[in-house]
Amino acid sequence: LNPPLYADLPGDVAVSFEFFPPKSEAMEATLWQSVETLAPLAPRFVSVTYGAGGSTRERTHATVARIAGETAIPAAAHLTCVNASRDEIDAIADGYWQAGVRHIVALRGDPPVAGGRFEARADGYASAAELVAGLKRLHDFEISVSAYPEVHPEAGSLAADLDAFKAKLDAGASRAITQFFFEPETFFRFRDAVAAAGISAEVVPGILPVSNFAQLQRMAVPCATNVPKWMAHLFAGLDDKPAARQLVAATVAAELCRRLYAGGVRHFHFYTLNRAELAYAICHMLGVRPSAPALEVAA
Ligand code: FAD
Repeated sequence: LNPPLYADLPGDVAVSFEFFPPKSEAMEATLWQSVETLAPLAPRFVSVTYGAGGSTRERTHATVARIAGETAIPAAAHLTCVNASRDEIDAIADGYWQAGVRHIVALRGDPPVAGGRFEARADGYASAAELVAGLKRLHDFEISVSAYPEVHPEAGSLAADLDAFKAKLDAGASRAITQFFFEPETFFRFRDAVAAAGISAEVVPGILPVSNFAQLQRMAVPCATNVPKWMAHLFAGLDDKPAARQLVAATVAAELCRRLYAGGVRHFHFYTLNRAELAYAICHMLGVRPSAPALEVAA
C-alpha cells in the first residue's frame, strides 16, 4: 500500500479520544486542558476508562458526567464486570442513562491484582457479552466493545477470540475498539480475519502514541502486544531527552495512522493518557483541523 503524502490527507477521518479518571486536582486540571484542546477537533466521542477492579467507579462517573454536561462532545463511559453484582452494574449504567450518557464501552475487565485471573461472581456478569446483553435490556445504549488484533492472552486461538467478539455483537454491541498495536499489517490481518468470520461491524484501531518507551514495555506485557525492535531502536538513547522523544512519538504514531489510512481506515481512537499534545499533532498531520474558529487572542 502506498500511503498518501501528509499534505494530501483531506482530513476525511473521524477521531475519538480516551481518557482515564484523574486521581488528584492537578491531574484533573491536566485532563480538562486536554479536553479543551481536543474538543475543537470535533471527536465522534470521547471515552473515560474504568479502573481495574472497578476502582474508579465514582471518578469515572464524575468525569463522564462533566464532559456530558459541559461540552458538546458525546461522552462514553467504560464499564466492567469486575467486583460487582449485576444489580450494582445495572444501577451504575442507569445512573449514566439518567445523566444523559448514551454510549458505554462494555468490558469484562481484569482483577485489581496485576496478573490475576478474572473470576466471575455468581451474582455478576461473567463476560463482556453478558454485560452487553444486560445493558441492552436496561436501555438502548450505543455499545462499543474491545477487540484484540494480536489475540487476547486468555483466548485459546484467534477463532475463539473471534467467537467471543461475535457474541458481543450478537448481544447488541455495534463497534469494537482495538487494543493498541504498532504494525499496520497486524490490524489489516485482523480485519481480514474479522471479515472472513462474517463480522461486518466497525473495528476501530486503538492508537497509543508512545513517548515513554519504558512505560510502554510494562504496559505491553499483560496485553501480549508485540513491541517491534525498530521501536526500541528509535527510542534508544532518548531517556533524558523528552522533547526529542515527543517528536519521535508523534512521527511513529502518525506514520502508523497514515499507513492505516492507505488501507481504508477512517476512524482512529487515541489512547491519550490524558495528554493532548501528541494526539492533537497526529490529528493535525492527518488533516483533522478545528471545526470551530480558534479562540480569539486578546489584543
Ligand atoms: P471479553 O471480550 O469478555 O473476553 C476477552 C477475550 O478473552 C475473549 O475474546 C476470549 O477469547 C477470552 N476469554 C474471556 N473469558 C474466557 C474464558 N473464561 N475462557 C477462555 N477464554 C476467555 N479494562 C478495565 O479494567 N477498564 C477499562 O476501562 C478498560 N478499557 C479497555 C478499552 C479497550 C478498547 C480495550 C481493548 C481493553 C480495555 N480494558 C479495560 C481491558 C480489558 O478489560 C481486558 O483486556 C480484559 O482482560 C478483557 O476484557 P474484554 O471486555 O475484552 O473481555
